[in-house]
Amino acid sequence: MQSSIIAPRTVAIAKGWVRLTHDFIICTPFGVVCVPKGFEYDGASIPRPAQFLLLLNRFDPRLRAAACVHDYLYRTGLFTRKEADLVYKQLMQVNGIGKIRANIHYEFLRACGWKAWNRHRKNEIMTNKEKEFVTFIDSLGLRYFTGAEILQSTRKVRDGVKNTIPPKSKWNNIKDASRVIDELRHNLGVPITIASSYRSEKYNKKCGGVKYSQHKEFKAFDLQCKRKRPKTIYRALLAMRQAGDFRGGLGEYKTFVHIDTRGANATWKGKGV
Ligand SMILES: [Zn+2]
Repeated sequence: MQSSIIAPRTVAIAKGWVRLTHDFIICTPFGVVCVPKGFEYDGASIPRPAQFLLLLNRFDPRLRAAACVHDYLYRTGLFTRKEADLVYKQLMQVNGIGKIRANIHYEFLRACGWKAWNRHRKNEIMTNKEKEFVTFIDSLGLRYFTGAEILQSTRKVRDGVKNTIPPKSKWNNIKDASRVIDELRHNLGVPITIASSYRSEKYNKKCGGVKYSQHKEFKAFDLQCKRKRPKTIYRALLAMRQAGDFRGGLGEYKTFVHIDTRGANATWKGKGV
């Protein structure tokens, strides 16, 4: 029955973590869940000592869908905790784990899942520093981009390393670049997503960013757009730079466009562009 197992497609990354290489979409009694490509998790819905007691091998392929979706639901708070636990049980059973065993796991999650759930809910709440940061961005008078969106890009995790908000001394650095992308968004008339803004030293390393990355200075954005190709975004930014709207770097990549306002012009293309 190996072939009938429903599981996300992943690649292994550091410390037992895996990353989704494709969106993983699943129908549940509580609604459709789409765990996005790029989502990282360590499959530890059940703490390790308990995994041992429950005779559970965390690498059992029959558990992968359950662990992935459960982790996603706990992290996002998309469903209630009970619903997330029920989805876990259902996905175990769908993949051929017996009712009794699935029930033991479920009861265990009901009894012990609080800790992880609350930790994730706490992460959703903004710290005072983050609130101040969001207020600062929102005070820049941008028409389209919000402090909350930029904050999200500073909360990403890569290979288990969490990004942070920039230190206050660098906040003003983003003024120019944010005006540029706001103007770009206005000219193009379609939604643009900020895939990356500030990157801490450690996080930048994990992203494979260059040593003197403008992201570390909070002078850069990586932009994505569902409705326009990166080339179109790149060309629009190039035209703005030629018109004297800003001086800085422009990089065209396969899936995104980099823009920064370092003060001197630089232009490059990513692999395969
Ligand atoms: Zn970049």
